Amino acid sequence: MKKEFVVIGLGRFGGSIVKELVRLGADVLAIDSNQERVDEFAKIATQAVIADTTDEAAIKSLGIRNFEHVIIAIGENIQNSILTTLILKDLGVKQITVKAQNDYHARVLEKIGADFVVHPERDMGIRIANNMMSSNVLDYLELSDEHSIMEIKANDRIAGHSLIDLDIRAKYGINIVGIKRGENIIISPAADEKILLGDVLLVIGADVDINRFVKKAM
Ligand code: ADP
Repeated sequence: MKKEFVVIGLGRFGGSIVKELVRLGADVLAIDSNQERVDEFAKIATQAVIADTTDEAAIKSLGIRNFEHVIIAIGENIQNSILTTLILKDLGVKQITVKAQNDYHARVLEKIGADFVVHPERDMGIRIANNMMSSNVLDYLELSDEHSIMEIKANDRIAGHSLIDLDIRAKYGINIVGIKRGENIIISPAADEKILLGDVLLVIGADVDINRFVKKAM
C-alpha cells in the first residue's frame, strides 16, 4: 500500500517535504490557505487544496484524520501552528510532525501532544558549523544530545591501516559501523578491513569521543 501524508503549509520547508515525499513514491495531500501556493503545488502533490487549518470544520471535511502522518510546516504564524496541532490531535491523528520556530514554540507543541517537533533552521545551523570546524566530517546524524553518527573522510594518516591496527573502539570508545567506498558500502566491516584513502567512515558514538578521534587520529 502507498504511504499517505498530509503536509500543511507550503512554504520553503513544507514545499520541499512535499516534493521529496512525492519523489519517494508517497501520496501527498498538500494544504495551504494561500491560493498561489496551492496552485504552485497542484501539479506536484497528489492533491492540493486551499484551506485554513485553524478551522475545525474545514479540517473535518478534508478527512485528514484518515492519514497516517501529518506534517505541520506553518512557519511564522505560531498561533496557527499551535491551533492546527491542537485540532488534529483532538481529532485523533496518530502521528503529527510540527516545525518549531523557537524553543518556546517547541515546548508548547510538546505539551499539546505533537509527536515529533523539528527545528530545521537550528539543526541546519549546527550541522553547517560542525562541517566548517572539521573538513573531515562530511555529515552527521544526531542520535541524542550527546551521541551521533558521523561521516568522516579517511585521510592519509589512517589510510592503509586496518580497523584492528587503529584500535579505535578501545582507544576512543567509538565504533565504525560502515565504510563508504565509492558507490559501495561495507556494513559492519570486519576487524581486518583496510581503510583506503578517500573512504568515508560511518562512526557511531558519543560526540566528545568522536571529536577526540577526529582531532587526534586525523
Ligand atoms: P517557510 O519558512 O518554510 O518558508 P512560511 O512561513 O513561508 O514557511 O510558510 C508557511 C505557509 O503556511 C504559508 O504558505 C502560509 O500560507 C501557510 N499557512 C499559515 N497559516 C495557515 C493556516 N491556518 N492554514 C493553512 N496554511 C497556513
